[in-house]
Amino acid sequence: MKVQTENQTLIQKDKEHLWHSMSRFNANASPMIASQGEGSWFKDMEGNKYLDGVSGLWCLNLGHGRKEIAQAAYDQMVNISYFPLTLSHVPAIELSAKLSSLLKASYTSYFSNSGSEANEVAFKIARQYQVQNGNPGKYKFISRYRAYHGSTMGALSATAQANRKDKYGPSAPGFLHVPPPYSYRSTFESDLAAAEYIREVITWEGPDTVAGVILEPFISGGGVLIPSKEYLTRVAEICKENDVLLIVDEVVSGFGRTGEMFGFMHSEGVQPDIVTMAKGLTSGYFPLGATAVQSYIYEKFKEEGDKQHFRHVSTFGGHPAACAVALKNIEIIEEEKIVERVSQLGSTILSELRDLESLNCVGEVRGIGFLFGIELVADKQTKEPAADELLGKIIAVCKEKGLIIGRNGDTIPGYQNVLILAPPLSSTEEDLRFLVDTVKTVIEEHDLKQLY
Ligand code: PMP
Repeated sequence: MKVQTENQTLIQKDKEHLWHSMSRFNANASPMIASQGEGSWFKDMEGNKYLDGVSGLWCLNLGHGRKEIAQAAYDQMVNISYFPLTLSHVPAIELSAKLSSLLKASYTSYFSNSGSEANEVAFKIARQYQVQNGNPGKYKFISRYRAYHGSTMGALSATAQANRKDKYGPSAPGFLHVPPPYSYRSTFESDLAAAEYIREVITWEGPDTVAGVILEPFISGGGVLIPSKEYLTRVAEICKENDVLLIVDEVVSGFGRTGEMFGFMHSEGVQPDIVTMAKGLTSGYFPLGATAVQSYIYEKFKEEGDKQHFRHVSTFGGHPAACAVALKNIEIIEEEKIVERVSQLGSTILSELRDLESLNCVGEVRGIGFLFGIELVADKQTKEPAADELLGKIIAVCKEKGLIIGRNGDTIPGYQNVLILAPPLSSTEEDLRFLVDTVKTVIEEHDLKQLY
């Protein structure tokens, strides 16, 4: 009884004082309040247990309760509790060197607190680099429709999902969008044609006006789009030919999510000029963003000396505890061979999920590593997207059965029809069995009832 009253009080306080991300203000809905986590599972205040099939917000890659990570944060906090990166500290130095070795070329990292900020930093560095490199007119960025790159003004301007930008306009000037490769509903004959379209936009905008192209190797929140590996290789070539910086947003795809340490590593000959990271960098245990730039870019800033330094400061960016957590997180990823595991198990899960394509309400199942999208349709022939309610129901029934799954976010009305699975990379085989079986059963039941 006492516990119930305490829970009610918490819910009341939450409703009155806590403004949630993506809040929808449904007066009757009670928030799900987490009380305890273990591995890929968590319990809510009522004691219900759930498998987190989306790793929180695609970040809890090593699952809850890793004591070594907590210990790394503790040890760092009782030693050097805070130190700014206008000066330096050991965990940041070690982490920047580690990132450079993981990226397999010489990179220099600027640390911030989130994925949005990592992208903001990338835009500022890219613009200033172009100025200092004698090309002050190169200020535009090209990103793809459906992409999400963050919520702050610059990152939101690169984000190309109408619903997310509605009411916050106008966007920052200089952000252009092109359609992504998306063979299921393609504007293009092939993924390479989608890459060539970027060349055309650069040509017609004027190569001397374009600073960079920003893209995720695999659009995640925008609906899990998996282009052929040659797409990114071609985009990289086009960027190089036009002196345009290739900025790869690895906020979701970094640190093993796609079965490579970084998503761009699936494509031959790609070495991005700038790589942005967050989420999996600390497995969600601590806020941290990183913008890694190839050293030739950093050298250009150094060459200019103090007069032209990078005028950007972040009080908490690269917090010593965050860097210590990231280092421990990467150590575990390597020790437990998480990337290899995700690559192997990921293909098995994908082929099992693909059985769903025989159902009337499933248009396409896509995935790579531990990132899966199930596109639901109302009509298989016309590919009319399934109604919002169908996805809502499937998600709700999965939740009743103890499984949390997601869907593509606020894209454009009518096109939020992709269910998304992105379980922790350390999920046990038993966890993954539960995930696949539950999702398949629930979708099959809805298909049978023709609820699409
Ligand atoms: N880029 C991508 C691809 C993302 O998915 C996200 C977050 N979902 C971001 C950037 C922004 O990250 P953050 O929420 O940490 O600002």
